[in-house]
Amino acid sequence: METQSKAPVAVVTGASRGIGAAIATVLARNGFEVTLLSRDAVALAQLQEQLSAAGGRAWPLACDVADQDAVTSALDRLEARLGVPRVIVNNAGIGGPFHRVDEVSVAEWNLLFGVNVEGVRNLCHWALPRMKAEGYGRIVNIASIMGLFGGAQSSTYAATKHAIVGYSKAIAAEWGAYGITCNAVCPGYIETEMLANAPPASRERLLERIPAKRFGTPEEVAGLVAFLVGPFGGYVNGSSLVMDGGLSSHL
Ligand code: NDP
Repeated sequence: METQSKAPVAVVTGASRGIGAAIATVLARNGFEVTLLSRDAVALAQLQEQLSAAGGRAWPLACDVADQDAVTSALDRLEARLGVPRVIVNNAGIGGPFHRVDEVSVAEWNLLFGVNVEGVRNLCHWALPRMKAEGYGRIVNIASIMGLFGGAQSSTYAATKHAIVGYSKAIAAEWGAYGITCNAVCPGYIETEMLANAPPASRERLLERIPAKRFGTPEEVAGLVAFLVGPFGGYVNGSSLVMDGGLSSHL
């Protein structure tokens, strides 16, 4: 028999690794029952085990965020099992390929918009009327400093992240009266798999431009998300919070 959760429920997309796994870990530590969502069922099950071993509660839900029907059916299952989530963190995202504007194919453009923008839309579209009925909701969308500034060779990625920043503000304006907040977090360079695989020379070049002289950690992003969905985050709404070690202060 399925049961409704007593712990507040959070959904974290892209939880199988990197920033999403760190967010899921911090939220589980803070008492949330965390629904772990990505396409990789094996990695999600491993993280669930890890979180359970540390006394947390998590539930893996394999799903492609770009597939609206799959998202709807996954979230319907979640609702039947645990109730309406109080928190949704749209973190799943893809970057690259790094091309000049005139080299970007329609397929690449559609792929990035499918995951980075429609993926966010799919979850928000499902969640907002339900959160309104509950009179409470916290949505955090992981954008990027590329959602506020441009960047050569990154036009498609930057366009998707600008879209997320605008979408988050529009949700804040439209749904704020119902106890719902929606914010965008805009990290700079964060030490995940993607960055670890970059050639040493390009890592050095990036570090030179960052006043902090280091990359951020997934845990630091997770800490900011935890603040936004925690007891002191309720008056932050429609904001784009930059976390970049000072990089954009001299862009
Ligand atoms: P990773 O590549 O390490 O992780 C991406 C996550 O997204 C994985 O869990 C992956 O899971 C999931 N994902 C990708 N496509 C889909 C999909 N179609 N459906 C469901 N899940 C999907 O990236 P990071 O942790 O570095 O990045 C996380 C977020 O932070 C992204 O939105 C990224 O744009 C943003 N960001 C990252 C920065 C950085 O420097 N690392 C800087 C600024 C923003 P799986 O493959 O299992 O489906």
